[in-house]
Amino acid sequence: MATRLTDKTSIRYIKGIGEARYAAFSKMGIETAGDLLGFYPRAYEERGRVVRLNDALDGEVCSVEVTVRETSGVRIIRGKLSVFRTVVEDESGVMELVFFNMPFLAKTLTKGRRFRAYGRMKIGFYGREMVSPKLEPIIKGVELPYYVPIYKVSPPLTQKAVSSAVESVLPLCDTLPEILPERIRKENRLLKRGDAIRLLHRPSGKEELALARRTQAFTEIAVFRLALYSMRRSVERGNANGLTLKDCRIKSFFEALPFELTGAQKRAVKEIFADLEKDIPMARLLQGDVGSGKTAVAASALYLCVKNGYQACMMAPTEILAHQHKKTLDKFLSPFGIRTELLISGMPAAEKKRVRAGLSDGSVDIAVGTHALITDNTEFKNLALAVVDEQHRFGVRQRKRLLDKSEKGGKRAHMLVMSATPIPRSLSLIIFGDLDVSLLDELPKGRQGIETRVVSKKDAGEIYDFIKNEVAAGGRAYIVCPLIEENEDTPEGKRAAESYKEELENGVFEGIPMGLLHGKMKPSEKSEVMADFAAGRTSILVSTTVIEVGVDVPEATVMVIENAECFGLSQLHQLRGRVGRGNRKSVCILVRGGGNDESAERLAVMRDTSDGFKVAEADLEKRGPGDFFGERQSGEFSFACTAIGDISLLAETESIVKEVLSDRENPEYSELFKAADVFLERNESGKTVN
Ligand code: ADP
Ligand code: MG
Repeated sequence: MATRLTDKTSIRYIKGIGEARYAAFSKMGIETAGDLLGFYPRAYEERGRVVRLNDALDGEVCSVEVTVRETSGVRIIRGKLSVFRTVVEDESGVMELVFFNMPFLAKTLTKGRRFRAYGRMKIGFYGREMVSPKLEPIIKGVELPYYVPIYKVSPPLTQKAVSSAVESVLPLCDTLPEILPERIRKENRLLKRGDAIRLLHRPSGKEELALARRTQAFTEIAVFRLALYSMRRSVERGNANGLTLKDCRIKSFFEALPFELTGAQKRAVKEIFADLEKDIPMARLLQGDVGSGKTAVAASALYLCVKNGYQACMMAPTEILAHQHKKTLDKFLSPFGIRTELLISGMPAAEKKRVRAGLSDGSVDIAVGTHALITDNTEFKNLALAVVDEQHRFGVRQRKRLLDKSEKGGKRAHMLVMSATPIPRSLSLIIFGDLDVSLLDELPKGRQGIETRVVSKKDAGEIYDFIKNEVAAGGRAYIVCPLIEENEDTPEGKRAAESYKEELENGVFEGIPMGLLHGKMKPSEKSEVMADFAAGRTSILVSTTVIEVGVDVPEATVMVIENAECFGLSQLHQLRGRVGRGNRKSVCILVRGGGNDESAERLAVMRDTSDGFKVAEADLEKRGPGDFFGERQSGEFSFACTAIGDISLLAETESIVKEVLSDRENPEYSELFKAADVFLERNESGKTVN
C-alpha cells in the first residue's frame, strides 16, 4: 500500500480488491478500511472442537483430525463433473472424504498427510463419510485456529477474499480511539476497543470471543441510547401547538362512542391529553395487544386536535387499513362536523388533488392514508397531530423524517405511534427508546377469548366441517397460507393461497362465496376483496399474511393458519388477533405442515397463552433478539454486534447512560457523543453494516 493506512483509506487500495470486489463491498456499505474493520463475521465455525471420528453422530457438524490412508484417484462423471474420494483414519476408525469437482485435491491429499477436516458426518450403509469438508493441513509447530470466522459474502466475494482484506486492515486496531472511558471499561470488565475488534475477526478462543462480543455490544447499546437521546432532544427543542380541553366538549365525544372505554383506554387518553396540552411535541407510543381498542384512543386525540382548530393525520401501513380507519373515524367524528378524507395512491388523480387542496386550505380536518402519501408533497395548513398506526412497520428514521416534514413555522406536530406488536420491555427500549409509552393492558369487556388448537394436516376434514358450521351460523373464516402461488421452488408441503383457494372453492366449500387476498394484488383489488369480506359478501378469505396488520372484521370467528411452523410466534399472535373481535367465541387453528420438535414446542406456546407479551417473551427466548431486529426491516438501525449479543446489556448500560447524560461536558465522554452522532448519520443515510 502506497499511502499510510487509516480508517478513512478507501478499500480500493487494499491488495486483492479489484473493481468487482470493490463494487460488491460498496454495495454492502463498506468503502473504507474502517468500514471493513466493522464488518464482523456473521458466524464462526468451531473447528477446534475435534472429535474422534467414530464418536461423531450422523449429521453432526464437527472436526476430525485424520491421516490419509489411500486415495481412489479422480473419477470423471461427465464433462467437467468429477468426484474424488479418499480414505482417511484416526485412532478410532476410518472414513471417506468425498469431493466434487476438485480434482486438484488429489495432489494435496496424498498418503500419510494429516488434516483437520470440518464438515457434516454422514453415516451410511458403507460407513462414514464427509462430503466436501473444509481442510486444513496439520503441521508440527503450527497451531490451527479454534474458531474460523464466516463472513456474509456473495460472489464475487469469497470467504478467503474477505478474510484476507480484513487481515490487511487489522493493524488499524492499534490506532482506534477508545469510545468508552477507561474507568467505565474497567468497571464493566470490557476489553479495549481495538482488542475487541481484532478478536471478533480472529478469535483466539471461546472466552475471548464472548468477551469481545460483550465489549462491542455494550458499546453499541450505550452509543445507540445516547443517539436516541440526542434525537429526542432535537425533537423537543421544537415547539408544538399546546392544545386545550376548554370548549371542546370532550365529554360529548366519549358519550357518543358505542361503548364505554376500558380502564386502560381511559388511562392512555389521560396520558395523551396531558402531553397534548404542553407545547413540547408529544412523542408517545400507544402499545396494546390486538383488539385492545387503540383506534378509539387515537380518535379522541384527533377530536381534541380538530376542536382546537388544527389539522391532524393518521397513517397506516396499508391501504386496507387506511380504508378501515377512514370508516371508523367517520363513525366517531363526523357527527361532530369533523371532515376526514382518505388519501391513498389507489384514488383517481383528480380526487387526490382535491383532498390535497382541502388539506392546504384547511377545509379538510383529518387526512387518513398511507405513510408515503401523507408525507410526499402533501401540504397541511396547520398540522398539529400525526398518528402513526402499526408502528413496527415504520422505523425511527422514518419517524424523524415525518417530524421534520411536519415542522411548519417553527411548530412541530405531536406524534402518537401505535403498535400491536407486543415487545418485551427489555427490547422496547431498544426499538422505541425515544418514546414515552402508554400501555393498553386490558381488553374490552365481553370478548369471548380465542381458543387455539394445534392440529396436523391429516385433520383437514374436521377443519373443513368446522368452518362450514361456523359459516352456516353466520361466522366468517380466514385461511392464511405461507405462499401466494406455487412455483418450481415451492418447498414441498407448503400451501399456496391461489391454488388452495381454487381447490377449496371447487371442492369442500363449493357454494360458499370465497375471496383471495395477497400482496401481489393491486391496492384497489385488495381493498375490494377486504370490503367484500367485511360486508359478508364472501364468507371465507384465503390469504397470505397481508391481513396481518390491524384488519377488523368482528364477524370473523375462525382463523386457520396453514404451515403454522413457518411463522414466528409474534406473527402468529398478530394473525390470531384478527378473530375474537366480536361477541362470538372464536377459534384459531394452527395447522402443522411439518417442522421439528422445536417448532411443535413453539406452537404449544401459542396454544397455552393468549397474552401477547408472554408470546413475545417466549419468542425472544426461543429465537433470540435477532428476529425482532429483523422485523424492523432492513435500512433501520444497524447493529453490528448487538443482535448476537445479550440484551441484558440494556440494564447494564442504564446507569452509564444516565451518568454520561448528567455530565455531558466532561471531555471523557466526547468520543461517546461523537460515536452517537456517527451512528445517527450512518442510519440517516441508510448505510448498514452486516
Ligand atoms: P386495535 O387496538 O387492535 O387497533 P381496534 O381499535 O381495532 O383495536 O378495536 C377493536 C374492536 O374493539 C373494534 O371493533 C372497536 O370498536 C372495539 N372496541 C374498542 N374499544 C372498546 C371498548 N372499550 N369496549 C368495547 N369494544 C371496544
Ligand atoms: Mg389497530
